[in-house]
Amino acid sequence: MKLFSDYESEVRSYIRSFPVVFDRADGSIIWDDQGNEYLDFFAGAGTLNYGHNPKAMNQALISYLNHQGILHSLDKATVAKQKFIEKFYQTIIKPRGLDYKIQFTGPTGTNAVEAAIKLARRVTQRGNVIAFTQGYHGLTMGALAITANDYYHQQIYASRTNVYHAPYDGYFGETINTANYIRQLIEDSSSGVSMPAAIILETIQGEGGVNTASKEWLQEIEKLCREKNIFLIIDDIQVGNGRSGEFFSFEFAGIKPDIVCMSKSIGGGLPLAFTLIKPELDQWLPGEHTGTFRGNNLAFVAAAELLTYWDNDELSQAVLQKGHMIKRCLEQFVSDFPQLKMSVRGRGMIWGLEIPVAGFAKQLSRTLFENKLLVETCGKEDSVVKILPPLIIKQAQLEEGLSKIGKGLQMLAS
Ligand code: PMP
Repeated sequence: MKLFSDYESEVRSYIRSFPVVFDRADGSIIWDDQGNEYLDFFAGAGTLNYGHNPKAMNQALISYLNHQGILHSLDKATVAKQKFIEKFYQTIIKPRGLDYKIQFTGPTGTNAVEAAIKLARRVTQRGNVIAFTQGYHGLTMGALAITANDYYHQQIYASRTNVYHAPYDGYFGETINTANYIRQLIEDSSSGVSMPAAIILETIQGEGGVNTASKEWLQEIEKLCREKNIFLIIDDIQVGNGRSGEFFSFEFAGIKPDIVCMSKSIGGGLPLAFTLIKPELDQWLPGEHTGTFRGNNLAFVAAAELLTYWDNDELSQAVLQKGHMIKRCLEQFVSDFPQLKMSVRGRGMIWGLEIPVAGFAKQLSRTLFENKLLVETCGKEDSVVKILPPLIIKQAQLEEGLSKIGKGLQMLAS
């Protein structure tokens, strides 16, 4: 096998954690160009909820290609776009009693975030946006401004204008309810936090360390938004599309955001991003917010096919059952290795194992890679091992991967 340094000069910017060249994939397995097989507990950072190359999706794509369907859609209507919209409304929006318009925003998640904050500012004519400690929303200028971690920021970007980073749920532990704290800041005209256009949050912070917001906290934030006419934006790019057990991660709290940002798994690995906006927010004039690759027909075909997973509740049930198993297993690790002082958090099928020993989680991820399991780290100083397998992973594969983590911990802890 080539070493990391052999590749570094060739494709430097794309090798960070896994120093091989990947070639093909099926379900929860990826193969490199040497034929080595890896079990995927990373799933494209939440892009492959339905696994790699789902057969029905690939079939739909092949027949679409044979049909000569590569059209540039931009602001045009296409059959593929219409079919996706119809399937999305029939399967997801209507059964949940939701009322949203869909705005395609560009190929990648960050484009949806940019559109969401821009629209909130446009409609309210207010500049300030409240985002959260440890939140991640992308790295282009607008999205970067609301992404919290200093690692991504430089003084010269000067991007944090008009953004206030408030403490996320649990940031101060149990003692302070940060929803009340935010209310106080907003209501106090001498606090320096001006009335925001929007509050944007992830219900589970994917990159920030798998921090989970409670139902009650989300409800309080929603109430605050309603009272003050602030738009509530949920960034469901990483934890939407069933990752939490329901299609949208906010459903468990019974809240109805004004804007929802969607991307990653919606296109099954093909680039697709959009915002869902409450109808009264549809105030952009035609062409006022546009972009060339705002709507890729191949991605629409893939997305429409994948939504058949939501024709019944089998996937949701499986996520809850497998998620429960992951949780139990990680909790067992916590008690098996008390010297590491680990903790577990998550929901559905996104779980974080925090290991507060400097460099340990990163080392574990490297060891697991050598043992053919792909796992990434996240959170403050990369101290959290993030368990994010495809939702469709087979039970036996899940057990195998978790057992590799147990062995990795054993090896490094002794
Ligand atoms: N929001 C969240 C919650 C994300 O996890 C990510 C990507 N990790 C983004 C936004 C940005 O998406 P993209 O990288 O596709 O632009």
